[in-house]
Formats: sequence, structure tokens, C-alpha cells
Amino acid sequence: MKMSKMYMPTLREIPAEAEIPSHQLLLRAGMIRKLVSGVYTYLPLGYKVIRKVEEIIRKEMDAAGSQEFLLSALQPRELWEASGRWKDFGPEMWRLMDRNEREFCLGPTHEEYFTSVIKDEIKSYKQLPLNIYQIQTKYRDEKRPRFGLMRGREFIMKDAYSFDVDEEALVKTYDIMWEAYDRVFDCLKLNYKVVQGDTGAMGGKVSHEFMAMSEVGEALVAYCQHCDYAATDEKADVVYNVGDEAEEELAMEKVLTPDIKTIEDLKNFLGMEKSSKLGKALVYMAAGKPILAVIPGDRELNEVKLANYLKVGGFELELADEEVIKRLSGANKGFTGPVGISKEARLLVDSRITKMKNIVVGGNETDYHIKNVNYGRDFTGEIVEDLLLIEEGDKCPQCGETLRMDRGIEVGNIFQLGTKYSESIGARFLDENGKEKFFVMGSYGIGVTRSVAAIVEQYHDDKGIIWPLVVAPYQIIITIVNTKNEEQLALGDKLYNELLGLGYEVLLDDRNERVGVKFNDRDLIGIPIRVTVGKMAGENIVEYSLRTSDDKSEVNADTVAKLILNEFVKEGLR
Ligand code: ATP
Ligand code: MG
Repeated sequence: MKMSKMYMPTLREIPAEAEIPSHQLLLRAGMIRKLVSGVYTYLPLGYKVIRKVEEIIRKEMDAAGSQEFLLSALQPRELWEASGRWKDFGPEMWRLMDRNEREFCLGPTHEEYFTSVIKDEIKSYKQLPLNIYQIQTKYRDEKRPRFGLMRGREFIMKDAYSFDVDEEALVKTYDIMWEAYDRVFDCLKLNYKVVQGDTGAMGGKVSHEFMAMSEVGEALVAYCQHCDYAATDEKADVVYNVGDEAEEELAMEKVLTPDIKTIEDLKNFLGMEKSSKLGKALVYMAAGKPILAVIPGDRELNEVKLANYLKVGGFELELADEEVIKRLSGANKGFTGPVGISKEARLLVDSRITKMKNIVVGGNETDYHIKNVNYGRDFTGEIVEDLLLIEEGDKCPQCGETLRMDRGIEVGNIFQLGTKYSESIGARFLDENGKEKFFVMGSYGIGVTRSVAAIVEQYHDDKGIIWPLVVAPYQIIITIVNTKNEEQLALGDKLYNELLGLGYEVLLDDRNERVGVKFNDRDLIGIPIRVTVGKMAGENIVEYSLRTSDDKSEVNADTVAKLILNEFVKEGLR
């Protein structure tokens, strides 16, 4: 492509709305433009990268035996009513009506739809396993669309669904998909970790998330360096040492704690060394009903674990306002506790609290706490195994070593779904004994546009993007330093045609611009292999360099093709 003709509106300034490198650079490099919050236009250079990522995914999905479909984004309400997700998906679902007032959504995902497609068409165990996928635009009215392609309200996803005869066969399919995902993300050159994920909202028991490690990632990953344990912060089991369980239970005692608002204040006021003797009581509204959750005072509550236990969607869970707190406890915020709380609240107790002795909790009376409170004797509730959020310094639940925590971008995930969707949609097959069974399903997603953003996060510098060769929109850029010079033009053109003829994707910067502008753009858009045609064109000498390095070499133009081939061979691309 000749750049004099190319649509590539690069920006010199960093757009004010863009906070993270990938968002800034994709905008500045003229790859995407915003339409409205969370909705983007893919411009030619950006779309080329997206298509390359799609092709890599397609190749690996096909190789893993999955077959490509393309389903509609429009899905009728009835499909979602069957699974219960018309309600459960909540406000993230884009809903609309046709002219006859029939309700639809713009698909946020396609479990129900794919299941309904194969239902009645796949009848026998002999046709299984079946694995099918699509690469398609998804719609989610995210609460916080942000960071450009990272969290859009419209985005491209590869979603796959598998249908197996039983759990054992599902696990085999799951492993095949896991391996295919490893190949995809290896090919995309992402530095990633595979971690246990939460399955709450999707149904099913087992899931893994593929996390591209990045400090701007929205997810936190806890992982062990001594064993293979790794999980998202939503999922990670918390090992919590409760201290001396044999301690003698003392008599409850009300203490005046005026103006104490936080756990930290309380700890200092009571002169305690650690806050581990404190019980923290949090009031939530879950699907409109009040919940009091009691956890150790030095820890944070994991809202995903809470929502899962209560079987409500994350969007249905929120901290209660002051008015509710006052109604339940009779006291101002900050003095809520489990002893004598209104029966209106469902009382959940983290299992660790039941083993702690003589704890301090809110007194349900403004300015008062109660000391020496003991579970069983002074209050009871529903015991929940683990409501805690993992934190720095926690021990590995598998081997006991200290866990590490890092941020990641979830670029893909795999789920063992079981029969939730086949049962609700009524999708059955006949097994080898002629008995009707529900398909045992899995689903597998990759965020295509989010992966593009993740690549930019991992491959950029202060000058711009550094595309790995395999996904670069163009692989080679030839810059003509002075387009008024006939020799430079002629040699640039000759090289351009030669490389095109060899099947490479080449940009020719033949724009009538200052050379500084051309160099800046070439760095910004991140083309991996660069050839500069300048003053020595008359001697058939050009400059050869890579985006990844500051090294430049003057080479005979006739050797350029060879150098480029070497680069491709090194990357395993030829
Ligand atoms: P997240 O926790 O980030 O919201 P999710 O669990 O909702 O992700 P899935 O429903 O499993 O995501 O979707 C499959 C993949 O689609 C994700 O792994 C991610 O890469 C991508 N994805 C999900 N939501 C978005 C979004 N709003 N914008 C871009 N990509 C997304
Ligand atoms: Mg989501």
C-alpha cells in the first residue's frame, strides 16, 4: 500500500480520554476511533490487525476440530427466558423490540442460541463430540466501558461451544480447547498465565481464564511460585489463620467507642495490635433483601463469593445505604454487628469467625461496640466456608507458600458448563443404550479486540506500538526520505514491487512529508521491518532496521529480500 493514498489519521497529541497505553496508541496510530462510549470504529490499519488475530484463532480452532458458524447478533427473548438469563444477565444486556413489539436482545454471548441450533439436529451419541464456534460481534452494556478496546460495549469475540456424551468426554474436549488456546496466545506472543476462574454466573463447576499479564489489567491474579496454583482474585480460596481457638470465652462487655467509624480507628482506640480480633459486619442488599455478612475485621469481603453463595447476579448486589443500616441495627453506620441485629437481615458468617474467640463487633447502638463476643454463644447465622478476598501475603491453598499477586487482562476463558443450558433448552440425544440424555456442554471465549489491546499493552514504547511480526498490519515499511529525488523514488518503488512480488505486506511511505514526520509515524504504527531509502539510493544502498532495536545497517538494496526472509524464518513465519 502506498501511504500517499492510505487512510491513516495519526494524532500527535495524546487524546485526553485515553488513560492507558493501548487506548492512547490505537487512537494515535489511526487504528480506531470512538463512536460513543465503548463503541469503536475500526480503521484500515486496526482492522487488519483484528483480522490477523481472527485468522490465528480460526486456524487453531479448525485444527482442534471445531467448525465455524455465524449466528445472528439478534436473539429473541424466549431463548433467554428458557435459561433464566433474560433476568439473570441484568442491565448488561442490550434489549430491543421489533415493530410488533416482540422483544429481542443483541447477543452478549450465545450459549442458548447455539444449543437451540443443534437441538433436534444432533440426535445420537454417534454424532458426538460436537464442537462449534463463531467469530462475531457481541454487545454488552457494560457498567464501566473503558480503556478503548479493552472493555467495550460492542466487541468482537470468538465463542465456541462443545457438546459431549458425559462429563468424562467433556474434560477431554476441555483439554483440547485449553491446548488450542495455548497455541493461539503463544502465537500472539502474549505473556500470559492460565488461572482458575469463577463459574458463578455461567453455571458449571470448572473454568480457567487466560490472563495476559499487564499492570493495567482489570483482573488480579494470585499465583504460587512453588506449585501450579493460580486463580483470579474472584475465585482464589483464602487460607486464614484464626489464632488461638482454645482461648477461654469471656463475658460480653459493652464498650463506649465514640466517633469510631473505621476498623483502623477501632483498633487504635482499643489499643489492639492487630485487627484480627475484630469482626466486621457488612450490610448488603441482595436482590432487594438485606444481608448482614460477618467476616474477620482485617479482611475484605469478596463480593463474587457472596453473590455466588446467595445465587444472585453481581448486579443485584450492593452495599446498603445508611437508612437500611439504621433500620436493621438501630444505630448509625459503623456500629453494626451480629448480636441483636434485626431478624429482617439474613445473617451470613464467614467460617473463620465461628472459630475466633472473644471478638469485638459493632454494638447495634450508636457509639458502642461489644467485646468478647463468641459465635454460638452470642449469635448464630448461616456459616459460609469462605467469603474473603485474597490479598498480598496470603498463603497458597495448595502448598502453603506465600502467594504472589499481579494484574492481568482476561483475554480468554474456558468453561465446563455441564447440562445447565441443554436442560433448560431441552437439548437431548440418544446414548448407546437408546436412553435420552442431555448434552454435557462446555463454552470457550476469546476476546479478539481485547487481545489486540493486550498485545499493544505488552508491546509498545514511548514512541508507539511494536507489533509482533505475526499480527502487524503490514510487515515491512519502505520510507522514501525525499520524494522529490528521482533516484530515491525509483529505488523505493523497485524494492516495493520486489517485496510485494515475494508475498510480503508492504507499506511504501511516498508521502510528500518531512522525513521526521515519516519516521515518527512509522514508529507510532509499529511496523516491524523498516527500509529507508535516502541519500545513498544512487549507489543502491539503503538503511535496514527493526522496530524492536536501535541498530541500523546500511545494506545493498539487492540483499534486503534476503534479510527479510531471515527475519520471517526466525519468527517461524516462512
Ligand atoms: P470480564 O470479566 O472481563 O467482564 P467476562 O467474564 O464477562 O469478562 P466472557 O463472558 O467470558 O467475559 O467473554 C469471553 C471473552 O470476551 C473474555 O475473556 C474477554 O476476553 C472478552 N470480553 C468480555 N467482555 C468484554 C468487553 N466488554 N470488551 C471486550 N472484550 C470483552
Ligand atoms: Mg463481563
